Amino acid sequence: MSGFFGSVLKEDCVNDVFYGTDYHSHLGTKRAGMTFFSRNKGFQRAIHSLEDGYFRNKFENDIRNFEGNSGIGVISDSESQPILVNSHLGRFAVVTVNKIVNIDELEAEFLAKHHTFSETSGGTVNPTELVAMLIAEGKDFLSGIQNVYDKVKGSCSMLVLTEEGLLAARDKLGRTPIIIGKKENGYGATFETCAFSNLGYEIDKYIGPGEVVRITAEGYEQLRKPNEKMQICSFLWVYYGYPPSFYEGINVDECRYRCGAALARRDDVNADFVAGIPDSGVGHAMGYSHKTGTPLKRPYSKYTPTWPRSFMPQNQNMRELVAKMKLIPNKSIIKDKCGVFLDDSIVRGTQLKDNVTDLHEAGIKEVNMRIACPPLTYPCEFLNFSRSRSSLELATYKAVNELENREGIEMMDMKEYSDCNSEKYKAMVEKIREHLGLTTLTFQTLDDLVEAIGLPKERLCTHCFDGSSYFE
Ligand code: SF4
Repeated sequence: MSGFFGSVLKEDCVNDVFYGTDYHSHLGTKRAGMTFFSRNKGFQRAIHSLEDGYFRNKFENDIRNFEGNSGIGVISDSESQPILVNSHLGRFAVVTVNKIVNIDELEAEFLAKHHTFSETSGGTVNPTELVAMLIAEGKDFLSGIQNVYDKVKGSCSMLVLTEEGLLAARDKLGRTPIIIGKKENGYGATFETCAFSNLGYEIDKYIGPGEVVRITAEGYEQLRKPNEKMQICSFLWVYYGYPPSFYEGINVDECRYRCGAALARRDDVNADFVAGIPDSGVGHAMGYSHKTGTPLKRPYSKYTPTWPRSFMPQNQNMRELVAKMKLIPNKSIIKDKCGVFLDDSIVRGTQLKDNVTDLHEAGIKEVNMRIACPPLTYPCEFLNFSRSRSSLELATYKAVNELENREGIEMMDMKEYSDCNSEKYKAMVEKIREHLGLTTLTFQTLDDLVEAIGLPKERLCTHCFDGSSYFE
């Protein structure tokens, strides 16, 4: 994933953009950048890697030199951003939350037209640069953004900083959100609304799918009406989002609470305690605990003084080691006890397996795992969902390959395996339970998840769980 924040104020907005962007740090671990515009200095930009430090430390020195009444910032899980270009539309900067599935095709089209791309060290095209080039093909900014909607297969939400203000353009199917906030002296646009609270913004508008809005310090105007269809990522509520954030007016933590309560409704295990796997499992566990009356405990503590957030080293072994070192089990709570554990999802299951091993080593009697969403039976094709790189890595695929006595089959029909009433589904869940060394394992049903979120099913992307979503 990635996340962004923009602001246009009647006075300097550097602090707002700095802190507003920082509140997106849970969404990306690779790069971050900010761009400001002032009449004095024009566009100013800084980009840093986040692989060896935190956003605030990395940009502390830059913000002393920045000035501007308008600015944008991004935490990116992949490419360097913002992209700053000069074009026939004028100078502009752009940040995106994107996944461009047809990037090779679009690159070839531009090269055939004798356009050039900046060379990147990885030898790949920077997707946000490609978006900037698509915008610059338009006769004005709006038609340029329409060009992005028409050409990009995948998803793309963007903030475009121009000399005349800020354009906020949400993905055409609204897979990722943009929300406008209002404060005394101007406006902001954000992916995460939790970024607004401490900066004095109130939520003013949820931008619709494909809607384009021009924002200035005086107000905002709609340049393009929202599309009717929406496919907002349901995983935002279950896992990605920060607890105080709202998407489509629905709070993340309250949704997690409802997910936990829904799991509890279908459960009959008699446990000594309930616990959430930190961090996103905690809200789900609260809901479960309140529904059943089982005490909520902390068998694991996260060691935050030196591991304050999810560092994502490139190397998978290192990532797993970091994940393990961060969580310290508390034997006093665990030994000889029967626990119910809530987690947001099972992707590969490797980290969960480590946690379960630790719990057994600490003398637990039962590990009953409850998962807040259905099994991930289809890889995400619409977002840079960094936790699963190929379907083969999914715990479900491993289980099904084993059940069907096959090896490494990457494409298979998962229809029956994603139906929670089918025998195949039950066999798959049992196989995952066995792989992870759990006493019992239950996943949320899709109907309960949709109900917990509270939007009609057709307005949500639930593709990971049922393969039902589509490109437009
Ligand atoms: S496939 Fe899953 S992660 Fe991807 S957009 Fe849909 S719900 Fe979100």
